Amino acid sequence: MYAIGVFGGTFDPIHYGHLRTAFELRSRLRLGEVRFLPCGLPPHREAPVADAEQRLAMVQMATAGQPGFIVDDRELRRDGPSYSVDTLLDLRAEHPSASLCLIVGMDAFLGLPKWYQWRQVLELAHIVVAHRPGWRAPDMGPLGELLIDRGTGTVSDLHEARAGSIYIHAVTQLEISSTAVRELISSGGDPRFLMPDGVRDVIEKSGCYTRPKETLTN
Ligand code: ATP
Repeated sequence: MYAIGVFGGTFDPIHYGHLRTAFELRSRLRLGEVRFLPCGLPPHREAPVADAEQRLAMVQMATAGQPGFIVDDRELRRDGPSYSVDTLLDLRAEHPSASLCLIVGMDAFLGLPKWYQWRQVLELAHIVVAHRPGWRAPDMGPLGELLIDRGTGTVSDLHEARAGSIYIHAVTQLEISSTAVRELISSGGDPRFLMPDGVRDVIEKSGCYTRPKETLTN
Protein backbone atom coordinates (compact mmCIF):
# COMPACT_ATOMS: atom_id res chain seq x y z
CA MET A 1 0.00 0.00 0.00
CA TYR A 2 1.29 3.48 -0.83
CA ALA A 3 2.30 5.21 2.43
CA ILE A 4 2.37 8.98 2.94
CA GLY A 5 4.36 10.60 5.77
CA VAL A 6 2.53 13.64 7.14
CA PHE A 7 4.97 15.92 8.92
CA GLY A 8 3.36 18.95 10.51
CA GLY A 9 5.18 21.57 12.50
CA THR A 10 5.61 25.23 13.16
CA PHE A 11 8.95 25.07 11.32
CA ASP A 12 9.93 28.38 12.92
CA PRO A 13 12.53 27.77 11.47
CA ILE A 14 12.96 24.34 9.85
CA HIS A 15 16.33 22.77 10.82
CA TYR A 16 18.38 19.61 10.30
CA GLY A 17 16.59 17.87 13.21
CA HIS A 18 13.40 17.95 11.12
CA LEU A 19 15.06 17.15 7.81
CA ARG A 20 17.15 14.23 8.99
CA THR A 21 14.11 12.76 10.79
CA ALA A 22 12.00 12.96 7.61
CA PHE A 23 14.82 11.53 5.50
CA GLU A 24 15.49 8.55 7.76
CA LEU A 25 11.81 7.75 8.29
CA ARG A 26 11.08 7.93 4.57
CA SER A 27 13.67 5.31 3.83
CA ARG A 28 13.15 3.04 6.88
CA LEU A 29 9.38 3.04 6.67
CA ARG A 30 9.29 2.93 2.86
CA LEU A 31 7.17 6.07 2.66
CA GLY A 32 6.33 7.05 -0.91
CA GLU A 33 6.53 10.70 0.14
CA VAL A 34 6.87 12.92 3.18
CA ARG A 35 4.60 15.96 3.19
CA PHE A 36 5.82 18.94 5.19
CA LEU A 37 2.87 20.96 6.47
CA PRO A 38 3.78 24.25 8.14
CA CYS A 39 0.92 25.08 10.49
CA GLY A 40 -1.00 28.33 10.53
CA LEU A 41 -2.04 28.99 14.09
CA PRO A 42 -0.71 26.18 16.30
CA PRO A 43 -3.48 25.35 18.80
CA HIS A 44 -1.20 24.32 21.68
CA ARG A 45 1.45 26.97 21.77
CA GLU A 46 2.33 30.59 21.20
CA ALA A 47 2.02 32.14 17.75
CA PRO A 48 5.11 31.62 15.55
CA VAL A 49 7.73 34.38 15.36
CA ALA A 50 8.28 34.27 11.58
CA ASP A 51 5.17 34.88 9.48
CA ALA A 52 3.46 32.22 7.39
CA GLU A 53 5.10 33.33 4.15
CA GLN A 54 8.60 33.26 5.65
CA ARG A 55 8.11 29.83 7.23
CA LEU A 56 6.75 28.46 3.96
CA ALA A 57 9.71 29.92 2.04
CA MET A 58 12.13 28.28 4.49
CA VAL A 59 10.42 24.88 4.17
CA GLN A 60 10.46 25.18 0.37
CA MET A 61 14.16 26.06 0.37
CA ALA A 62 15.00 23.21 2.74
CA THR A 63 13.20 20.52 0.76
CA ALA A 64 13.81 21.67 -2.84
CA GLY A 65 15.24 18.93 -5.01
CA GLN A 66 14.94 16.19 -2.39
CA PRO A 67 13.08 13.23 -3.91
CA GLY A 68 9.88 12.39 -2.05
CA PHE A 69 9.81 15.60 -0.01
CA ILE A 70 6.65 17.60 -0.71
CA VAL A 71 5.56 20.94 0.71
CA ASP A 72 1.87 21.23 1.47
CA ASP A 73 0.62 24.68 2.45
CA ARG A 74 -3.02 23.83 3.15
CA GLU A 75 -2.84 24.65 6.88
CA LEU A 76 -1.50 28.10 6.07
CA ARG A 77 -4.42 28.72 3.72
CA ARG A 78 -7.00 27.68 6.28
CA ASP A 79 -8.43 30.18 8.77
CA GLY A 80 -8.39 29.40 12.47
CA PRO A 81 -6.25 26.94 14.41
CA SER A 82 -4.46 24.14 12.52
CA TYR A 83 -5.92 20.90 13.87
CA SER A 84 -4.22 17.73 12.69
CA VAL A 85 -7.57 15.99 12.48
CA ASP A 86 -8.85 18.47 9.85
CA THR A 87 -5.71 18.02 7.76
CA LEU A 88 -5.96 14.24 8.01
CA LEU A 89 -9.64 14.31 7.00
CA ASP A 90 -8.63 16.29 3.89
CA LEU A 91 -5.75 13.97 3.04
CA ARG A 92 -7.88 10.88 3.62
CA ALA A 93 -10.49 12.22 1.15
CA GLU A 94 -7.75 12.87 -1.42
CA HIS A 95 -5.98 9.53 -0.88
CA PRO A 96 -8.70 7.06 0.08
CA SER A 97 -6.57 3.95 -0.25
CA ALA A 98 -3.19 5.16 1.03
CA SER A 99 -1.67 4.56 4.43
CA LEU A 100 -1.24 7.90 6.23
CA CYS A 101 1.61 8.11 8.74
CA LEU A 102 1.53 11.17 10.97
CA ILE A 103 5.12 11.93 12.00
CA VAL A 104 5.66 13.53 15.41
CA GLY A 105 8.57 13.96 17.78
CA MET A 106 8.30 12.34 21.21
CA ASP A 107 7.63 15.75 22.80
CA ALA A 108 4.63 16.27 20.53
CA PHE A 109 3.40 12.70 21.09
CA LEU A 110 3.37 13.20 24.87
CA GLY A 111 0.85 16.01 24.33
CA LEU A 112 -1.45 13.82 22.20
CA PRO A 113 -4.26 13.50 24.80
CA LYS A 114 -4.63 17.28 24.64
CA TRP A 115 -5.08 17.36 20.87
CA TYR A 116 -8.45 18.19 19.44
CA GLN A 117 -10.30 14.90 18.70
CA TRP A 118 -7.14 12.91 19.18
CA ARG A 119 -8.86 9.52 19.08
CA GLN A 120 -10.10 10.27 15.59
CA VAL A 121 -6.50 10.94 14.56
CA LEU A 122 -5.78 7.22 14.99
CA GLU A 123 -8.81 6.30 12.91
CA LEU A 124 -7.43 8.40 10.07
CA ALA A 125 -3.70 7.70 10.32
CA HIS A 126 -0.91 5.76 11.97
CA ILE A 127 1.30 7.76 14.30
CA VAL A 128 5.04 7.49 13.81
CA VAL A 129 6.97 8.84 16.78
CA ALA A 130 10.54 9.97 16.26
CA HIS A 131 12.72 9.66 19.33
CA ARG A 132 14.06 13.08 20.19
CA PRO A 133 16.92 13.79 22.58
CA GLY A 134 15.80 14.11 26.16
CA TRP A 135 12.33 12.54 25.82
CA ARG A 136 11.30 9.07 26.97
CA ALA A 137 8.37 6.99 25.78
CA PRO A 138 5.53 6.90 28.32
CA ASP A 139 5.02 3.57 30.07
CA MET A 140 2.11 4.66 32.27
CA GLY A 141 -1.09 6.67 32.01
CA PRO A 142 -3.36 6.91 28.96
CA LEU A 143 -0.46 7.04 26.49
CA GLY A 144 1.27 4.05 28.10
CA GLU A 145 -1.98 2.09 27.70
CA LEU A 146 -2.44 3.31 24.16
CA LEU A 147 1.05 2.07 23.33
CA ILE A 148 0.27 -1.38 24.70
CA ASP A 149 -2.88 -1.42 22.59
CA ARG A 150 -1.69 0.18 19.36
CA GLY A 151 2.10 0.06 19.48
CA THR A 152 3.95 -1.92 16.81
CA GLY A 153 7.56 -2.51 15.90
CA THR A 154 6.70 -3.93 12.49
CA VAL A 155 6.99 -1.68 9.46
CA SER A 156 4.63 -3.85 7.40
CA ASP A 157 1.79 -2.97 9.83
CA LEU A 158 2.06 0.56 8.47
CA HIS A 159 1.53 -0.75 4.94
CA GLU A 160 -1.11 -3.39 5.55
CA ALA A 161 -3.63 -1.05 7.20
CA ARG A 162 -4.36 2.58 6.36
CA ALA A 163 -4.39 3.76 10.00
CA GLY A 164 -4.48 2.79 13.66
CA SER A 165 -0.94 1.80 14.75
CA ILE A 166 1.71 3.67 16.69
CA TYR A 167 5.29 3.09 15.66
CA ILE A 168 8.19 4.50 17.68
CA HIS A 169 11.45 4.86 15.85
CA ALA A 170 14.83 6.09 17.02
CA VAL A 171 16.26 8.57 14.54
CA THR A 172 19.75 10.06 14.64
CA GLN A 173 19.72 12.28 17.68
CA LEU A 174 20.30 15.85 16.65
CA GLU A 175 19.81 18.11 19.56
CA ILE A 176 18.51 21.08 17.60
CA SER A 177 15.31 22.94 18.38
CA SER A 178 13.73 25.90 16.64
CA THR A 179 13.55 27.73 19.96
CA ALA A 180 17.31 27.39 20.49
CA VAL A 181 17.97 28.45 16.88
CA ARG A 182 15.82 31.58 17.30
CA GLU A 183 17.56 32.45 20.56
CA LEU A 184 20.95 32.01 18.95
CA ILE A 185 20.07 34.34 16.08
CA SER A 186 18.43 37.00 18.23
CA SER A 187 21.54 37.13 20.36
CA GLY A 188 23.70 37.71 17.29
CA GLY A 189 24.84 34.12 16.61
CA ASP A 190 25.13 32.36 13.26
CA PRO A 191 22.92 29.30 12.62
CA ARG A 192 25.24 27.89 9.92
CA PHE A 193 25.32 24.05 9.86
CA LEU A 194 22.13 23.79 11.93
CA MET A 195 20.04 24.16 8.78
CA PRO A 196 20.54 24.28 5.00
CA ASP A 197 22.24 27.44 3.71
CA GLY A 198 19.12 28.41 1.74
CA VAL A 199 17.11 28.59 4.96
CA ARG A 200 19.83 30.66 6.62
CA ASP A 201 19.67 33.05 3.63
CA VAL A 202 15.91 33.54 4.04
CA ILE A 203 16.45 34.30 7.74
CA GLU A 204 19.26 36.73 7.01
CA LYS A 205 17.40 38.59 4.25
CA SER A 206 14.10 38.85 6.11
CA GLY A 207 15.62 39.54 9.54
CA CYS A 208 12.70 37.53 10.92
CA TYR A 209 14.50 36.45 14.11
CA THR A 210 16.64 39.50 14.67
CA ARG A 211 15.72 41.32 17.83
CA PRO A 212 14.43 44.81 16.98
CA LYS A 213 16.95 47.45 18.00
CA GLU A 214 15.99 48.85 21.36
CA THR A 215 14.67 52.35 21.01
CA LEU A 216 16.72 54.77 22.99
CA THR A 217 14.80 56.89 25.36
CA ASN A 218 16.57 60.08 26.46
P1 ATP B 1 10.27 24.69 19.05
O1 ATP B 1 11.64 24.66 19.65
O2 ATP B 1 9.86 26.08 18.59
O3 ATP B 1 9.24 23.97 19.90
P2 ATP B 1 10.78 22.44 17.26
O4 ATP B 1 12.25 22.45 17.00
O5 ATP B 1 10.23 21.45 18.24
O6 ATP B 1 10.32 23.90 17.65
P3 ATP B 1 8.49 22.12 15.51
O7 ATP B 1 8.26 22.82 14.23
O8 ATP B 1 7.62 22.46 16.65
O9 ATP B 1 10.06 22.34 15.87
O10 ATP B 1 8.53 20.57 15.30
C1 ATP B 1 7.78 19.85 14.36
C2 ATP B 1 7.92 18.38 14.68
O11 ATP B 1 9.29 17.98 14.56
C3 ATP B 1 7.50 18.05 16.12
O12 ATP B 1 6.77 16.83 16.07
C4 ATP B 1 8.83 17.90 16.84
O13 ATP B 1 8.72 17.00 17.92
C5 ATP B 1 9.73 17.34 15.75
N1 ATP B 1 11.15 17.73 15.96
C6 ATP B 1 11.64 18.96 16.11
N2 ATP B 1 12.96 18.96 16.29
C7 ATP B 1 13.36 17.66 16.23
C8 ATP B 1 14.64 16.98 16.37
N3 ATP B 1 15.76 17.66 16.62
N4 ATP B 1 14.64 15.63 16.25
C9 ATP B 1 13.48 14.96 16.03
N5 ATP B 1 12.25 15.52 15.91
C10 ATP B 1 12.18 16.86 16.00
